Amino acid sequence: MKIVMMGVQGSGKGTQCKLLAGELKLPHISTGDLFRANITSGNELGKRARQYTDRGQLVPDEIVIDMVAERLKADDAKDGFLLDGFPRNAIQLAALEYISPVEQAVLLELDDATAIGRLAGRTECGKCGIIYGANRRPRAEGICDECGRPLRHRVDDKDVKAIKLRLEVYHSEIDVMVRYYQWKGVLRRVDASGGVEEVGQAVLEAIKE
Ligand code: AMP
Repeated sequence: MKIVMMGVQGSGKGTQCKLLAGELKLPHISTGDLFRANITSGNELGKRARQYTDRGQLVPDEIVIDMVAERLKADDAKDGFLLDGFPRNAIQLAALEYISPVEQAVLLELDDATAIGRLAGRTECGKCGIIYGANRRPRAEGICDECGRPLRHRVDDKDVKAIKLRLEVYHSEIDVMVRYYQWKGVLRRVDASGGVEEVGQAVLEAIKE
């Protein structure tokens, strides 16, 4: 099944995609994660992307679309995928419908105040990719449960201006995706204000509808 997960930053897209990826045996493809991996490896794509990601701005469409198109060619994504963070605007939406039309679009609904609170309290493990926040606290403060490495705040989560800009960009662009997927009959709205398991259950039910 080809699924797109949408929602404001902090709504739990990454966490829910990771759970769902295990449940449905689908690859979790997060454009934010792909950019962060390229930035960490210091390659050309990472260098080009970094000037935008650090400020909370969208990376230009041609860069992100080529990156996603390349990723979707991989064997593991032939029969389905869970896309997280893409599409983010009308051009990306059109490109995705051209490359590999989606069958389900889940919208995690959360108000901005709760989202900002979650972002401020969120840390992640650079190695395991586990995200810690209100719903999952590390056993030892600042240390990853799985690998014991120190946790970090994402660069763009530390800067209030960058957070506000990301939310503004989200609200200005999301409507076109919601209206398109609604028209296509594949939009599933899920209340994302609950705990990880509760929301996970609601997502599973929504995509089985
Ligand atoms: P995320 O982890 O989804 O919040 O993404 C982190 C950052 O990566 C964003 O603030 C953007 O700078 C960049 N990014 C991720 N996905 C996209 C996309 N679909 N289009 C443009 N930029 C993106």
